[in-house]
Amino acid sequence: MPITPFHLGPGVFQKALAPRATNLLLYGVASLAIDAEPIIKGVAGLFGVDLGPLHTWTHQLEWMLIIALACAIVWALLRLTSWPVAVFTAAGAATTHWLLDSLMHGGGDMPLLYNTRGYGTDIAHGIAIWGFLLGTPFLIAYYRTPIENWLRRELRLPRSNQSRSIDGK
Ligand SMILES: [Zn+2]
Repeated sequence: MPITPFHLGPGVFQKALAPRATNLLLYGVASLAIDAEPIIKGVAGLFGVDLGPLHTWTHQLEWMLIIALACAIVWALLRLTSWPVAVFTAAGAATTHWLLDSLMHGGGDMPLLYNTRGYGTDIAHGIAIWGFLLGTPFLIAYYRTPIENWLRRELRLPRSNQSRSIDGK
């Protein structure tokens, strides 16, 4: 699924379920890296260059895991997040990418060995959109206090003494 924003749906959901263990930016970068092949081939196609099927080995589950983990290693080495968070995020990005793309492209040009049968794009988009719908309220709940404090500062409202985030930080 070269339209990477759809992959962020389950990413938002994972972030909502495990906010401290998920790095959403890494999730997006890993999804983008996994989709490098269909993106490059798709762009070449726009210029009339046929580079073959959009999804080949890069869209088998084990290669998605390897690509995402490579991103995680770079992320952790750059100290953008901790190793456990990087690995957990990458594993989630790869498996949900595989699930969505299998549903969307299954029976099409994705390697069949690791595919479910294609059930069409609607289910894949449905999962992605539900990820957003279910994940966003969790995220808002989690970040409510920082957002509220920022608004109070900007609007010069008195600080609420009930301002406390879920984890008490
Ligand atoms: Zn993809």
